[in-house]
Amino acid sequence: MTREKSEVYIISDVFKNISKLPPLLPILYFLLVRTLKLNMELFIISVIALTMQLHRMQLPREVVVGNETLPLLSEICKKLGFCESALVVTGPDTQSIAGRRVIDLLSDKEMDVDAFVVKSSTMWEVRAVEEKIKDLKPQVVLGVGGGTKIDVAKLSSTRQGIAFISVPTTASHDGIASPVAAIKGLKKPYSVMAQSPMAIVADTDIIIRSDYRFTASGCGDLVSKFTSVRDWELAYKVKNEYYGEYAASLALMSARLVTKNADVITPGSEEGLRLVLEALISCGVAMSIAGSSKPCSGSEHLFSHSLDLVEPNGCLHGEQCGVGTIMMAYLYDIDWKGIKDTLQRAGAPTTAEELGVEPESIVKALVQACTIRPERYTILNTKKLDYASAKKLAKVTSVIS
Ligand SMILES: [Zn+2]
Repeated sequence: MTREKSEVYIISDVFKNISKLPPLLPILYFLLVRTLKLNMELFIISVIALTMQLHRMQLPREVVVGNETLPLLSEICKKLGFCESALVVTGPDTQSIAGRRVIDLLSDKEMDVDAFVVKSSTMWEVRAVEEKIKDLKPQVVLGVGGGTKIDVAKLSSTRQGIAFISVPTTASHDGIASPVAAIKGLKKPYSVMAQSPMAIVADTDIIIRSDYRFTASGCGDLVSKFTSVRDWELAYKVKNEYYGEYAASLALMSARLVTKNADVITPGSEEGLRLVLEALISCGVAMSIAGSSKPCSGSEHLFSHSLDLVEPNGCLHGEQCGVGTIMMAYLYDIDWKGIKDTLQRAGAPTTAEELGVEPESIVKALVQACTIRPERYTILNTKKLDYASAKKLAKVTSVIS
């Protein structure tokens, strides 16, 4: 049985971190060589080991994107060693769209399949799914639905230490493939680390039937990598944080791809949808490689989380992130007009009015954004926005008039 995810460990930052050690060397020498009688060779090895940071990457093993791919699910489960039991986490609507079909497909292969219907991504729902997992002891949890169901399935399976498979029914954000989950009711209004899906099965035949607004929102989440990667780079330069060029390049490539092909991304276009899905999955993998959401979530995401607090139940995550990216790109003095143009071509909102929020809420969200996640260093730490400068920023980028 192969239940393990692809895991890669990289020893990084040896030389960067060794510079922090000299003040501790005399103490270590006294403790290890003089007191514990460790020989000098072992002492040197210990010093090097102390400076190493093990960087763990957890990657999906099977990724399938395309038309009529859902029937492949039972074969994928079998390949991964899940032949006996599964718990399907789905929503009231997504159950009829894909949940029921997934249950039937797995049941036909003699698997013991149970379903759990969740309505929202709250901690209450996560705990309820955890209880179900404890009770049924399934081999794997499948999240079938939009972001909400996938996030609940992802976090509950992580907390119970079992594998998770992602079966998205929309292409609204990169959570369909990432190791992070956005759950309401946690202490902070942003995503938490969970686990990356062991497999992703994205059936374009199902996703194309969802409201196009979701796919346009996915484009918003994708262009946001133009500023999130900048923020990550900034944190590396100013705060000496870990920065991985490979993960950064992968995230940026997705943003560039959506910019180049924005005209293809239209309602009913399978080619456009495939492109968005593949780019979102690449972003999820970039986060898995980085071991954090940093390549894909920077100041523009802080703005979105802040707007969630100012205007709860407002708009879709990717829609807000897209608008945030326009403003953060202006602060970085990068091509914010080009980003706006991409969003417009893809049919995503670019103004407060299109988002359906008050101009005042945009300004408030901008001012509060830097307080949402103080440990995440972004452009908002260097360009502190007060009410007047936030209003000016929203106006100059035409987010408000
Ligand atoms: Zn996002």
